[in-house]
Amino acid sequence: MAQINDNYFKLQAGYLFPEIGRRVREFQKEHPQADIIKMGIGDVTQPLTPFIIRAFHEGVEEMSKIETFKGYGPEQGYDFLREAIAKNDYQNRGADIHADEIFVSDGSKCDTGNILEIFGMNNVIAMQDPVYPVYVDTSVMAGRTGEYLGNGYYDGLVYLPCNAENGFIPEIPKKKVDIVFLCYPNNPTGTTAGKPELKKWVDYAIKNKTIILYDSAYEAYISDPEIPHSIYEIEGAKKVAIEFRSFSKTAGFTGTRCAYTVIPKNLVASSSDGSDKPLYPLWFRRHTTKFNGVSYPVQKAAAAIFTPEGKKEVRATINYYMNNAKILRESLAKLGFHVFGGVNAPYVWVNSGRQIKSWELFDKLLHEAYVVGTPGSGFGPSGEGYFRFSSFATHESVLKAMERLGNLKW
Ligand SMILES: *Cc1c(COP(=O)(O)O)cnc(C)c1O
Repeated sequence: MAQINDNYFKLQAGYLFPEIGRRVREFQKEHPQADIIKMGIGDVTQPLTPFIIRAFHEGVEEMSKIETFKGYGPEQGYDFLREAIAKNDYQNRGADIHADEIFVSDGSKCDTGNILEIFGMNNVIAMQDPVYPVYVDTSVMAGRTGEYLGNGYYDGLVYLPCNAENGFIPEIPKKKVDIVFLCYPNNPTGTTAGKPELKKWVDYAIKNKTIILYDSAYEAYISDPEIPHSIYEIEGAKKVAIEFRSFSKTAGFTGTRCAYTVIPKNLVASSSDGSDKPLYPLWFRRHTTKFNGVSYPVQKAAAAIFTPEGKKEVRATINYYMNNAKILRESLAKLGFHVFGGVNAPYVWVNSGRQIKSWELFDKLLHEAYVVGTPGSGFGPSGEGYFRFSSFATHESVLKAMERLGNLKW
């Protein structure tokens, strides 16, 4: 008899967004005329920009002619894209990363979920709380946690609380951890970490032989010149960190799919015989065995992001979203919310300041203002009482949503 992977039964009912979807659908069914404004899910709304679309079209055309047709591409990604990434995202910022250390993929969700495959089963894994749910759920599926403890925590994971008191930067854990997920600019809190804060983590990782899994999906939203875009801008990080980047939020590729992971060639972890072994060949083996590359037109479109025209267009779209973030921040502060994030990241993280739980606020906003946000508790127990607004909505809908919140009776 075939055996099932029982770890899946440990997963908690409904990934956050299906539960939001369910409540919204139910409300819409009862109130068909309600014009609901969705500021919950972290998906972009603005289309791919003209220069990037043109490159995408050119890629499609090339596929139609025998002279330029392409079959399987290199699994790691085309050189033209990896070289553009290495130069623009790393070398131009003083981070010594080379094209052959970059693995182009179809998403950071998949990469952050798959990366643990190259690590042994006995690692102690730590993650921020609140957190991007993918890191937790994929750890559970892979049997890297114990049972669900019933209060938002899984046995076996180390939770690093991020709250207003610590400025949403977790304290260095007292217990030694082997692997730590860090995400900056952060989803869900929209907060960032400066060089001194990240340096503490890199130093900890060097001292304890910990691997940092650094998710910088939102780096393009950083405007403060003091905030690092990459973990590799921190001295020593190449010895301890893997970095995940995505074109999803940078350039509206959520539906187009293109991302990349950086594994420095000299990054090592311990093998069971006690010797240090490089991680690069393992991920290389995994990637080339289980993945056949991102489609050529998509990689061609992604490379256009790094041209002067592409950069200008991408910047304009990001400015559009960040103007929304500014309106959200200012309006919510005026309404008495405690407001965090939204300056170097597209998410605004708020506490209502009114002693209500995250899901209660969700229902209140849905029922009384027809506005959908994301309950902070859905991202982890330390998110209770908080709420996330996304600036990826359209400008008009942000204004309308904030006007409706202004009319709420508390
Ligand atoms: C959106 C997001 C990603 C990007 O995922 P893709 O699969 O590349 O679309 C990665 N990490 C975080 C924290 C995100 O919010």
